[in-house]
Amino acid sequence: MKHFDEVILGAGSAGELKATILARATKSVALIEKLRVGGECAYVSCMPSKAMLRSAQVRETTKKIVDLGGASHPVNLGDDFDGLYRELNARCKATTDVLTEPLRPSK
Ligand SMILES: Cc1cc2nc3c(=O)[nH]c(=O)nc-3n(C[C@H](O)[C@H](O)[C@H](O)COP(=O)(O)OP(=O)(O)OC[C@H]3O[C@@H](n4cnc5c(N)ncnc54)[C@H](O)[C@@H]3O)c2cc1C
Repeated sequence: MKHFDEVILGAGSAGELKATILARATKSVALIEKLRVGGECAYVSCMPSKAMLRSAQVRETTKKIVDLGGASHPVNLGDDFDGLYRELNARCKATTDVLTEPLRPSK
């Protein structure tokens, strides 16, 4: 049986940080995750919510520019919020996949 100096349950923000700190201190670490490496922040809370907020800010700013006559072409902002949500989630997932790649088991 393989032995580790430390075992961490959960590869969310806290688990990842703790594992990184311990690994830098040359400890052997087992990081156990039951669902998704990256945890809530990556897939549910911080990143998707900030992406939604930023896109709403950009939409609002664009509307103001159009209202002030600052657009030289007609602007159609659309209202496909489901599509927007899907796209933002896909981009968050792609970013998270890259960020958490070093934590994935080697094949
Ligand atoms: C809408 C929203 C926006 C937020 N925005 C921000 C922000 O901008 N900045 C910020 O710093 N924080 C933000 N937060 C808070 C942030 O999401 C949490 O503080 C953070 O995700 C907590 O990380 P964690 O590692 O403690 O828990 P989690 O991310 O929940 O990770 C726990 C992990 O443990 C795993 N796990 C649980 N039980 C077991 C088990 N028995 N065996 C194996 N694995 C297990 C779970 O699958 C999960 O992956 C936000 C929260 C919300 C709701």
